Amino acid sequence: MSQDCLLLNGNGRPVSYLPLSVLNWKTAIKLSITRDVIVIKEHADWVVRSPSVEMKVPSILMLQSYHPFHSYVKFSRTNVFLRDLYTCQYCFDIFEKKDLTMDHVVPKCRNGGSNWENVVTACKRCNLQKSDKDIRPKVEPIKPTLRHLIRGHQIDKSNFPDREWNKYIFQS
Ligand SMILES: [Zn+2]
Repeated sequence: MSQDCLLLNGNGRPVSYLPLSVLNWKTAIKLSITRDVIVIKEHADWVVRSPSVEMKVPSILMLQSYHPFHSYVKFSRTNVFLRDLYTCQYCFDIFEKKDLTMDHVVPKCRNGGSNWENVVTACKRCNLQKSDKDIRPKVEPIKPTLRHLIRGHQIDKSNFPDREWNKYIFQS
């Protein structure tokens, strides 16, 4: 998806970090003409024209009011890998995403849940060796906080169309 516009929550922070709440330019324009958002910044030289109107494409939009959904960290394969920093929780080596699996600490066949507290990153070899044996990971899995997940490298700054985004995304 093209990331043309950053969407902030009413508190001035991104609605979500992972994935980053971004909109394509068409959605950004549609949203900007409603009363639900405030235009914080427009792209300096990106103007869209229709026969009757001329509009600058917004670069940063903020919701008028605060919606408390931003702190929710979705349980997903990618986010589990991010929490564990692409490190197998059994051998503690770092792998590429394609060589990693999600491992159920208490196996599914023994009613182990698919949740933050029971799923860890494991390399294919360790996952195979572990199988349904009772081996604990080196670090007990926990539900990560947002801060835990946004440690620098996970958000690719090089794709930002506007450097101003950094201010909102990496503010302390
Ligand atoms: Zn391993």
